[in-house]
Amino acid sequence: MWEELSEEYEALRGTVAEFARQEVAPVIGELYERAEFPYALVAKMGAMGLFGLPFPEEYGGMGGDYFALCLALEELGRVDSSMAITLEAGVSLGAMPIYRFGSAAQQQHWLPELCSGEKLGAFGLTEPGGGSDAGATRTTARCDGSDWVINGSKAFITNSGTDITSVVTVTAITGVSGGRKEISAIMVPAGQPGFTVSEKYSKVGWSCSDTRELYFDDCRVPAHHLLGERGRGYAQFLSILDEGRIAIAALSVGLAQGCVDECLRYARERHAFGHAIGSFQAIQFKIADMEVRAHTARLAYYAAAAKMLRGKPFKKDAAIAKLVSSNAAMENARDATQIFGGYGFMNEYPVGRFYRDAKILEIGEGTSEVQRMLIARHLGVEPRQR
Ligand SMILES: Cc1cc2nc3c(=O)[nH]c(=O)nc-3n(C[C@H](O)[C@H](O)[C@H](O)COP(=O)(O)OP(=O)(O)OC[C@H]3O[C@@H](n4cnc5c(N)ncnc54)[C@H](O)[C@@H]3O)c2cc1C
Repeated sequence: MWEELSEEYEALRGTVAEFARQEVAPVIGELYERAEFPYALVAKMGAMGLFGLPFPEEYGGMGGDYFALCLALEELGRVDSSMAITLEAGVSLGAMPIYRFGSAAQQQHWLPELCSGEKLGAFGLTEPGGGSDAGATRTTARCDGSDWVINGSKAFITNSGTDITSVVTVTAITGVSGGRKEISAIMVPAGQPGFTVSEKYSKVGWSCSDTRELYFDDCRVPAHHLLGERGRGYAQFLSILDEGRIAIAALSVGLAQGCVDECLRYARERHAFGHAIGSFQAIQFKIADMEVRAHTARLAYYAAAAKMLRGKPFKKDAAIAKLVSSNAAMENARDATQIFGGYGFMNEYPVGRFYRDAKILEIGEGTSEVQRMLIARHLGVEPRQR
């Protein structure tokens, strides 16, 4: 898979790359400064079928696979991460849980509008009290007649409060079984009484992406909004996060490669001491190291995706891909900003945006420490007992 992409994958990559260069690049800087959600660009991505990439045609999807989504995320991330995370969260966190675990009725109800990109879904696992320890969920859902009554809050939820958000799936404690919390996943339609969202957070990066806190105050949803089996919510979401890590790795590789693109151009244009700065070996080596990081990180996510598509266990590979790629993005953003000198610190150049956007990649969908915990556990190094 990774030596040469098939014609279909290559065509998709080319189409998304062109969209990113022609449509996103010219406008994203201003939207970013105004922290504006890019509705028009999201609509175009919807029309291109990007929100339906890995879903079957019967739901309005493109009948592709998860690797196709990753290629699209890489090409978008190469130009802008807010666009890429809006797609990533919409597909892999919003729609995918419904596709993987939903009933036929739930899939038919929600997936067509999510696949079209006309509506967005979100995924609410993290709570204000903590995200890494996802089992420490405090939000509750009590069964009352034919309803769930939800109380609690969620923090940092992507795509949760846009004008086109239609559903947020949240984890909640639905009981206690064998002395352990029973955590289930429940779909909450946007605008449901008792469900409110905060104003958008003011963020360091991903400024065009929608991130909010969610509040549930005796929010009632019908019992059939339970996603999959009762008590399986925690396991469902862990498996969704395993896949999501490959997607975040792809997005990270895009950012890392975007830094190389920008630096190659700038190193030829910018002169110092009578020479293009690209003629200095210090700059050449920096750019070479950046390319090495992007390339090796890409191999890591391709390898994880290949295992996942073949139905092999891929948890450790996904964690490695996410760890390596987010680190590559962070290092490349730092080096790119250095190569741009003072202009690297100006918002008018994309590298400043890359610098602000890179850090979250080491935090979201499992921090780098959590990835190391997963890798160590896979190697048989037991976690400390509580
Ligand atoms: C912009 C943005 C978008 C997001 N989107 C979503 C979303 O759509 N849905 C969603 O559910 N969540 C979302 N998140 C939440 C994100 O997944 C969490 O922020 C992340 O998992 C970390 O959780 P936390 O912030 O609570 O940090 P904490 O869990 O409080 O961790 C704090 C620090 O302690 C470290 N740490 C924790 N436990 C250990 C340990 N056992 N060993 C070593 N170190 C440890 C962590 O690595 C970190 O460095 C988003 C976050 C951001 C910032």
